[in-house]
Amino acid sequence: MKCRFCHHELTHIFINLVNAPPSNSFLTKDQLNEPEVFYPLKLYVCDKCFLVQIDEYKKSDEIFNQDYAYFSSFSTSWLEHAKKYVDMITDRLELSTASHVMEIASNDGYLLQYFLEKQIPCLGIEPSANTAQAAREKGIETLEEFFGDDLAERLVQEGRKADLIIGNNVLAHVPDINDFVKGLKIALNSGGVVTMEFPHLMCLIQENQFDTIYHEHFSYLSFHTVRRIFAEHGLVLFDVEELSTHGGSLRIYARHDEDDSKPVTSNVTALLEKEASKGMLQLDYYLGFQQKADKVKYALVTFLLEQKEQGKKVVAYGAAAKGNTLLNYCGVKKDLIEFVVDASPHKQGKFLPGSHIPVVAEEMIKLNKPDYILILPWNLKDEIINQLNYANGWGAKFAIPIPLLEIF
Ligand SMILES: [Zn+2]
Repeated sequence: MKCRFCHHELTHIFINLVNAPPSNSFLTKDQLNEPEVFYPLKLYVCDKCFLVQIDEYKKSDEIFNQDYAYFSSFSTSWLEHAKKYVDMITDRLELSTASHVMEIASNDGYLLQYFLEKQIPCLGIEPSANTAQAAREKGIETLEEFFGDDLAERLVQEGRKADLIIGNNVLAHVPDINDFVKGLKIALNSGGVVTMEFPHLMCLIQENQFDTIYHEHFSYLSFHTVRRIFAEHGLVLFDVEELSTHGGSLRIYARHDEDDSKPVTSNVTALLEKEASKGMLQLDYYLGFQQKADKVKYALVTFLLEQKEQGKKVVAYGAAAKGNTLLNYCGVKKDLIEFVVDASPHKQGKFLPGSHIPVVAEEMIKLNKPDYILILPWNLKDEIINQLNYANGWGAKFAIPIPLLEIF
């Protein structure tokens, strides 16, 4: 196994979560009677470039099938985040009706709809058929494809270079990061800007966020490493912001090497120094993460067993990918968590992969009056607790599993 970026031999394991089914393959009732495929889930860290990466990967088209259930528009806080970004970037880059915006992994048009409102021409690229269709229904032109070198070349031939290329939570999800970044270089207009958001590896390690590891998530990136990857393909990171989304993300700003109209900001040097001071340029920083994850596991399992013995009822909220990694690594099944509530009608009536816990509508919380509600998407805990605060009426408590089990 060689590093996906620098091709150096990988010998250091970052974490081994043993195995898991693809985190977004929700099951129908009939499928519960069929065998379920589990794939190894193990990450390595490269001791040359410090790219943390999954060891084996399934073919992308096996994972992103027709049933791929994640629709971005079902999270109100994510929609707000998208709208704020569109207002900010439109001002900053002085985008107009003459500009061309492209979003990779545009999902159901949750973000591009705000460019559409401003009448700024935009194109979505989204390999998953049902979310791409939802975007088209909003009036957003969407290509149902994977982005990379090939597609970028084709877009250029059609005269469709972009002034702004956006990628939110896609950079870490591409199997071939070199091909992807090479494509960005090709598809970007000479004075154009690329912005990408992805979870920051520094936060993942500090906050025990091992549940953000799943098969669709190939790379785990520090700012140092992503800067090296972009530089290799002729792109300079000239600005960066630290965001609170997904437990701590980075938003990077890239331009062509040749474009000297955008000087590198002090944010870049400050973050490089911060990462270096944490030890992110030394292998030791990456080792020992397994023990941290196991502590989280033991605390959660102990809690669930105690509640079971005392006859308390525990349910969960949020059928997100991260919940599936957590529950599968902890070996939790329906006997310990009766059901999980999710707002997405695409998931209700189905069952979580691996654990087979049923996904139901929020109404079930009111009907069942559980003693504890375990919030799986801890990154949205404030939004969710606020939404479910009526459960305090019968004395229910909330539990957050990450960074370490907390009850309130
Ligand atoms: Zn490497």
